[in-house]
Amino acid sequence: MSRDTGSDELVVYIDGDFYPESEAKVSVFDHVVLYGDAVYDTCCAWAGQIFKLDEHVDRLFESAHALKLAVPLPKVQLREVVIETVRRNALQNAYIKIIATRGVGPLPLLSPYDCKPSLIVFARPYVSLVGGEAQAEGVRIKVASWRKIPDECLPSQAKTCNYLNHVLMRMEANEAGYDDALELGIDGYVAEAPGYNVFAVKRGAIRTPANDILKGITRQTVLELAAGEGIPVAEESLTVFDFYNADEAFFSSTAGGIFAVSEIDGRVIGAGRPGPITTLIRHRYYDLLESGEQSTPVYGSADA
Ligand code: PLP
Repeated sequence: MSRDTGSDELVVYIDGDFYPESEAKVSVFDHVVLYGDAVYDTCCAWAGQIFKLDEHVDRLFESAHALKLAVPLPKVQLREVVIETVRRNALQNAYIKIIATRGVGPLPLLSPYDCKPSLIVFARPYVSLVGGEAQAEGVRIKVASWRKIPDECLPSQAKTCNYLNHVLMRMEANEAGYDDALELGIDGYVAEAPGYNVFAVKRGAIRTPANDILKGITRQTVLELAAGEGIPVAEESLTVFDFYNADEAFFSSTAGGIFAVSEIDGRVIGAGRPGPITTLIRHRYYDLLESGEQSTPVYGSADA
């Protein structure tokens, strides 16, 4: 263990310093606490290499730009901080979160001006959001009765810390005995899931919603892997009917990987277990993570 603070705890970067987790704190007056006024990004390290780091840093800056929120470090330095955070925690497979908050303003009021922004980066051992059994057999999901906040109210492409809408949908699904939710936009089309992009497979082609979604970096990877395998892909509007009648359905995200959906609202999807296209894309995805081909190494030869 490195833990350069001399403690056994993992360390967290906040505004230029590293703190043991138990001392890593933000002000109660930070706009992230008062209003959920912040952006974040989640990336992962696999075998000591951070997958698509530049894409995640770019997306964080795009999210911040959309919210007129100043990230306190330039991209190149932020990149180094992310690498350093994983390195100091001596992690190989890591879940990494970068959070840029609006910060503390002169008064704890709903004024986004004259705030001092904060930057937080933490890395923890990677644990998939989706447990082993669900990964192997597929998850059971429920179409949420809540609708997704539309782009007209908050840009879906910005990864903000305002996730209450997703939280409500997951709670509703969990409390009804399902693993997770399927989110519809106010237009009634399928959008995404709480923290995931969604895919339906029909007659050998992959279909995925195009609008009202966060453009997931894993989603993009799925599209690239599918192209490499010669599997046709369509980004288009999809209905609940399309998902009920899919041959296969699956979810994707950095924190959960790629996993099958076995049931939606009590309807079995395909054979009720991960189908051949889901399984192929899933294997190709983990091969890619493992290969480091699109990743940034955390440890140089001096660390070996
Ligand atoms: N959609 C939402 C709402 C998310 O929060 C996430 C990830 O957190 C995703 C999709 C998947 O994005 P990615 O593949 O970049 O992790």
